[in-house]
Amino acid sequence: MLRMQYVSTRAADKNGAKRSFSQILLEGLAPDGGLYMPQSYPVVSREELDSWRSLSYAGLAFEILRKFADDIPEDDLRKLVEKTYTPQVYRNVRADEAPDAITPLRWLEEKDGKKLLLLGLSNGPTLAFKDMAMQLLGNLFEYELGRQNAELNILGATSGDTGSAAEYAMRGKTGIRVFMLSPYRKMSAFQTAQMFSLPDPNIFNIAIEGVFDDCQDIVKAVSNDLEYKGRQKIGTVNSINWARVVAQVVYYFRAYLLATENSTQKVSFTVPSGNFGNICAGHIARMMGLPIDRLVVATNENDVLDEFFRTGVYRVRKSAETWHTSSPSMDISKASNFERFVYDLLGGDGERVNRLFRQIETKGFFDLSGKPGSDGDEFGKVAQYGFESGKSTHADRIETIRFAEKEYGITIDTHTADGMKVAREHQRQGVPMIVLETAQAAKFNEAIFEALGRNAERPAGFENIEELPQRFTVMPVDVGKVKRFIAGKTGL
Ligand SMILES: *Cc1c(COP(=O)(O)O)cnc(C)c1O
Repeated sequence: MLRMQYVSTRAADKNGAKRSFSQILLEGLAPDGGLYMPQSYPVVSREELDSWRSLSYAGLAFEILRKFADDIPEDDLRKLVEKTYTPQVYRNVRADEAPDAITPLRWLEEKDGKKLLLLGLSNGPTLAFKDMAMQLLGNLFEYELGRQNAELNILGATSGDTGSAAEYAMRGKTGIRVFMLSPYRKMSAFQTAQMFSLPDPNIFNIAIEGVFDDCQDIVKAVSNDLEYKGRQKIGTVNSINWARVVAQVVYYFRAYLLATENSTQKVSFTVPSGNFGNICAGHIARMMGLPIDRLVVATNENDVLDEFFRTGVYRVRKSAETWHTSSPSMDISKASNFERFVYDLLGGDGERVNRLFRQIETKGFFDLSGKPGSDGDEFGKVAQYGFESGKSTHADRIETIRFAEKEYGITIDTHTADGMKVAREHQRQGVPMIVLETAQAAKFNEAIFEALGRNAERPAGFENIEELPQRFTVMPVDVGKVKRFIAGKTGL
């Protein structure tokens, strides 16, 4: 008998379409347009939490994942997790960290009873935190496709981090091909080299003669052709995938266990946020009983989330109001995982979630402030979930990169700088504040050069990445051409 069942955030009848972990693993959105959520959260007692203190990262990941993925035989799940969370995969740690730390937790400062820490999440193959979940997803996909004797062709659009994390997770995997669209000559030289230098025959880079939105529009057009999508077995790996969110829950537990001595203590987290995927995992960890005091959302100039957590109004932006910033992986017009938190905030009322997010399509916003004419008053309950927020600008990032070098002797990237700036504004006495490091500085060297007047150091093996031979196909903004290219490679 399975304990864990998943339902859509928009389901009116929760007993209607329940699914298991493996059933939703390869899916994106639920058929009604909602996101999958567990019907209830597994709760971790203090005793259980304390019993996890001696576990390795892989051991901890197994304990947490088995609560969510309980239709995968435990021996298989353990093997998948142990294959994923190794010091070889997460090898790019700073020289002064333990080489097998996977996610090193660094004490930065203790001043006036305020402690600031940094959780390193960007030590995987693409130097961004997305590897933490995506590497597991690659192994889970290969396992599940093998079990079903099926194949999957992943189609995606990227402006950088997501595409490379997906390609490095899926390279060489049986039953999987990746077709990744990116805007031709619009990514940084480092990011382009990372993606285009992969030699694996199951990876196809398609450079579109347009901008990122053109790439995304092509993916949407292909996905809307249901006959083609079915025949070509098209799938996605975007951040709404439940398995990605749940893999991220693990490092909140890990950081907590490293930062505390016993489970009566509390910690807070500040998370550089765009699509609300990373911090959504923190929310889930808290709902499972992890003693988290506050979850601080840090945005850049694209402050959709900061606006909600200040005012109770969730207002998506138009393309023309979406800024290109020096923390580009947080440049979003809407936060695609935010619906998961709203679902919990509204007490799991799928009908209301459905109404509010359909209203986004017509009016562009919903308002939970409780003011006359608003759509609800649940904003008053947000603090109970520990959420706070803040934002930063390019000038803040540059200043914070300088500050971190001077005060802590480390180079941080622009996204982590957004987090550190906001974290320092939200520290409280007696509660350690943990900032999540979401990328390494080498990935966003321009800002490092601007702030510090020198290049960011690169981890071993990345020194000459731009000189490696590159494989990619250039194509105009033409859905038909992309479709024919994919069919030619799949033979389906
Ligand atoms: C994707 C990404 C983010 C934003 O994460 P979300 O889960 O979308 O909130 C922040 N920083 C970096 C470096 C990223 O790649």
